[in-house]
Amino acid sequence: MEQYDLIVLGGGPGGYRTAERAAEEGFKTVLIEKLRVGGVCLNEGCIPTKAYLNSAKIYRHALEGGAFGVIADGIRLDHGKALEHKNKVVSALVSGVEAMLKSKNVTIVRSQGMITGKENGNFTVAVGDTVYAAPRLVLATGSEPVILPLPGVKEGLASGFVMTSREILDMQALPASLAVIGGGVIGLEMACYFATAGVKVTVIEMLDKIAGATDEDFCARLMKRYRKMGMEFKLSCKVASVGTDSVTYEDAGGMQTVRADKVLLSIGRRPVSKGIGLETIGVATLRGAVTTDDRMRTNIAGVYAVGDVNGKLMLAHAAYREADVAVNHMAGKSDRMRFEAVPNVLYTDPEVASVGDSVASAKAKGLDVRAVSLPMNLSGRYLAETERGDGLCKMVVENGTNRVVGAHLMGAYASEIIYGAAMMIETQLPVDTLREIVFPHPTVSEILREALFAL
Ligand SMILES: Cc1cc2nc3c(=O)[nH]c(=O)nc-3n(C[C@H](O)[C@H](O)[C@H](O)COP(=O)(O)OP(=O)(O)OC[C@H]3O[C@@H](n4cnc5c(N)ncnc54)[C@H](O)[C@@H]3O)c2cc1C
Repeated sequence: MEQYDLIVLGGGPGGYRTAERAAEEGFKTVLIEKLRVGGVCLNEGCIPTKAYLNSAKIYRHALEGGAFGVIADGIRLDHGKALEHKNKVVSALVSGVEAMLKSKNVTIVRSQGMITGKENGNFTVAVGDTVYAAPRLVLATGSEPVILPLPGVKEGLASGFVMTSREILDMQALPASLAVIGGGVIGLEMACYFATAGVKVTVIEMLDKIAGATDEDFCARLMKRYRKMGMEFKLSCKVASVGTDSVTYEDAGGMQTVRADKVLLSIGRRPVSKGIGLETIGVATLRGAVTTDDRMRTNIAGVYAVGDVNGKLMLAHAAYREADVAVNHMAGKSDRMRFEAVPNVLYTDPEVASVGDSVASAKAKGLDVRAVSLPMNLSGRYLAETERGDGLCKMVVENGTNRVVGAHLMGAYASEIIYGAAMMIETQLPVDTLREIVFPHPTVSEILREALFAL
């Protein structure tokens, strides 16, 4: 039996951040990861998709450079090179995280772990014939794609005709056409890359809008831009089956079929909570997600759950912060997870970034709010750098307290500046105080300043 102070099950952002912070706090820590350290985020999620989207962005900038006085001929997007770049970035980051963990004296075990019970105050996790024991256990097993139980899907996955976000990221050659089932963040980011690369993309979405909970005004603008890229949308359409070269869906007019060379299934993800031995220690779950409080504690003392496995917010940066909260609790420090100011980003072209409430969600909570909506063109930098000019900034403020409760941005750099709005929400400073902040000029971030003064 190998004795530790803490066992971390799963080496994604939730798990490796927990191990890093716990080791810094002096806990002897073992991290058990069955595939690659870095988890979905580094290996098959956040990072690889952004590497591809950057290739698409550079390509589009080159194509559209004429308007800015940059003329280039014979431009093409070489998917093989983009894949190579993606793999290099992933390898560099995975090695970096492993090196960081080793430097903190975290033991990394590269194999599947199974919780086996609790003995003498220690939780036990078996990895093959070795048993690891510790009085604390952090569940960080992440999530996996939801697979539609529809005719043809299983066979399609087996033949390679249907892919999840995992397989599509390693596709060697571009298909001529791609049907994307699910118009949420993952589906749209993939659709954006492949459409830019010249693939005929059709997005089939069950709802009457794309991009999940994104503000309606932004969705309409996004659709317009995506359509210009050649993407086609089938909204309010329910997929019924998958054939060998097509997808059949139902719309108001009945059954329809779209032909495709490949299909991406991106209808959501579910927590990995089955088959890891939770029942042996009695950890409670709700609809497959491990239930936790705002300290990331489960119902079993000494057991925490961070990241996608708790189903709260399936985002890498949420997992990171939850890891900090869990370790702080273990170390006896006061901390709690707050979800009010966790940004959400869609990294397509254009980018959409939002944090906090929309007017609708604020009103649904009973808040009395006012909002302002400004074109991003008010930012000189934005105008100088973009020819399209359809970017938008919305800010939502609570009347009475005069505090920012939501901010929504569409356009270049949105992902990079949204944290500024997150700080406005998190610090709860009133608008009058926030107006004293000096923003660098010229930057796109100045749009937030404009919004503060327009409220
Ligand atoms: C295509 C795609 C794009 C995304 N883009 C973004 C983005 O831009 N921004 C963002 O914030 N989020 C993004 N996400 C979501 C993000 O990847 C997840 O929220 C994040 O990875 C969750 O971290 P985690 O540590 O909870 O779990 P994961 O990253 O899923 O890691 C869990 C790890 O646990 C391991 N594991 C599971 N069971 C066991 C076991 N029994 N024994 C040992 N190891 C085990 C798994 O192998 C895995 O490595 C994206 C996801 C996808 C799929």
